[in-house]
Amino acid sequence: MAVPKRRTSKSKKNMRRASNSKMVPAGFVECPQCHEPKLPHRVCPTCGSYDGKEVVSVD
Ligand SMILES: [Zn+2]
Repeated sequence: MAVPKRRTSKSKKNMRRASNSKMVPAGFVECPQCHEPKLPHRVCPTCGSYDGKEVVSVD
């Protein structure tokens, strides 16, 4: 059975994890309009858009 020759270093392991998360906390998605983190299935508090349309006017 094939066995890895070298254990993945802490640096390489941490780089892999960082590349998947984009530093956005869990339970958030990126807004497609303004690219700010927002709660999923909710109107974006930054630009007031949902499903590609502005549904709430934001000052
Ligand atoms: Zn937005």
